[in-house]
Amino acid sequence: MRLHNMQIHSTLSRCASDEMTMERIISEAEKAGLETIGISDHIDNFDPSREQKLLENFSIRDKLCPNINVQIGCEVSQIDKYTIAIDVATAKKLDFVLVASNHYHLSHVENPIDRNPSAYAQHHLKMIEGAIDWGHTTIIPHPFLLAKVRGIDHSAVLASYDKHQLSYVLSKAAKGEVAFELNPRHLGSHPAFFKALVSLGQKVGVKFALGTDAHKPNEIKYNQTDLKTLNQIGVCQEHLLAM
Ligand SMILES: [Zn+2]
Ligand SMILES: [Zn+2]
Repeated sequence: MRLHNMQIHSTLSRCASDEMTMERIISEAEKAGLETIGISDHIDNFDPSREQKLLENFSIRDKLCPNINVQIGCEVSQIDKYTIAIDVATAKKLDFVLVASNHYHLSHVENPIDRNPSAYAQHHLKMIEGAIDWGHTTIIPHPFLLAKVRGIDHSAVLASYDKHQLSYVLSKAAKGEVAFELNPRHLGSHPAFFKALVSLGQKVGVKFALGTDAHKPNEIKYNQTDLKTLNQIGVCQEHLLAM
């Protein structure tokens, strides 16, 4: 499988390590044999100066003349069904946009009124629909697994997704050319759900994108366990987004 990693945070993301300079990221990705990588720094609030800062990643990349495909994007937080925290003009300038439809841990992101597994599952699907309707979303990162929501049973959330509704949302994503991220480090704990998701995705023609949400240099590459996990859930080249 030709590998890409579309979720890598540089030093522009406060949560990333100081070692995550563009230069280091590129050299690690080249060593790891990745063909394409995506720089996806956070945008959590509407902030023109932040957007400007992220756009500077283009000239930083160009100066380094990488031997691999290095795309400049962002990971933007979705605040509610209709609100994605980036100016459309900026989104259009980026190579790709990850719209995080489940950053429920942020205080300004709408949570369901009833904070139970089924309400979260319903809410997240509505958020994803909104991200597809927005029209500038490339990939939904860390979908379905609401790992950052505290105090709920994550297996119960996964069990709460209605099959028909899920299939409707996946078909809609396929039509809107929105891909879903598969992060082998998240899938491992719930292989059955993600195996079913990949198989449903294949039926409706939705694409998947690989990402590790790398915040440190050694998180950029895929190790043997990651590749085994991807193999286990049945993902292969033809299901992956061509970047
Ligand atoms: Zn995120
Ligand atoms: Zn991230």
